[in-house]
Amino acid sequence: MSTFDDLLDRLDNVRPEGDSYLARCPAHPDDRPSLLLTLESSGRLLLYCRAGCKTHAVVAALGMKMSDLFNMASGSTTPVAKVGPKAPPTAEHIADATAYCEEANRRYASSPAAKYAEERFGISEAMGYFLGLGYDDGTIDSAWTTTAYTRVARLVVPFAGFDGVIRGWQSRALEEDEAPWCGPKNPPGHAWSTIGVFDLDNDEQNVMVTEGPGDRLTAVAAGYSAVAIRGAALARNTDTLDQLAKHLVG
Ligand SMILES: [Zn+2]
Repeated sequence: MSTFDDLLDRLDNVRPEGDSYLARCPAHPDDRPSLLLTLESSGRLLLYCRAGCKTHAVVAALGMKMSDLFNMASGSTTPVAKVGPKAPPTAEHIADATAYCEEANRRYASSPAAKYAEERFGISEAMGYFLGLGYDDGTIDSAWTTTAYTRVARLVVPFAGFDGVIRGWQSRALEEDEAPWCGPKNPPGHAWSTIGVFDLDNDEQNVMVTEGPGDRLTAVAAGYSAVAIRGAALARNTDTLDQLAKHLVG
């Protein structure tokens, strides 16, 4: 049975990506490396093609079996992904998130999303545009949106950190939907940020911590620089609280 090292040897354009590797996907004509490979310490290999190839297609193109994904030795030189908390988004993930949110923001003016934000949260169109809110009718291309995400038109809310860098986003369905708030799927081995801040005036006295992007929009309309934590369960996540505490105290 071949090792992860052997496998990387057989792929083209291999380069490290955080705890993972990117390589040219063997299952489709790949101009830029689209295949993300992550070997977990348990020996499980995660394969993810950003162009959308199914895992079994990639496995077949590699001449492997699906069962090979569950028990792979690392070989001598390759590092193995850490267990424990997922890694933050890489520079490439951040570029993807930024490109997506900027495109949605370009489509915001006079959109159904702008109308929704005004009616539901009291955010004027000009302010929404300034905050980086966006509109996606399901046609913006992203490797990270799912079919559940794109089946309805959405108001896009970027999750930027205190440094202004977008590390995730959440979107509100503009009509009745099973997933009223929906975010991008996590890159394998990584997790999008659960904290988003609208830092309007850089006045840390005025920061309000909220539980979700909806509350954040309402708070901003009321004059706060609001921080959103995605859902009550995540509000109990210690990593998230550490990030907040570091900023608010420091
Ligand atoms: Zn592919």
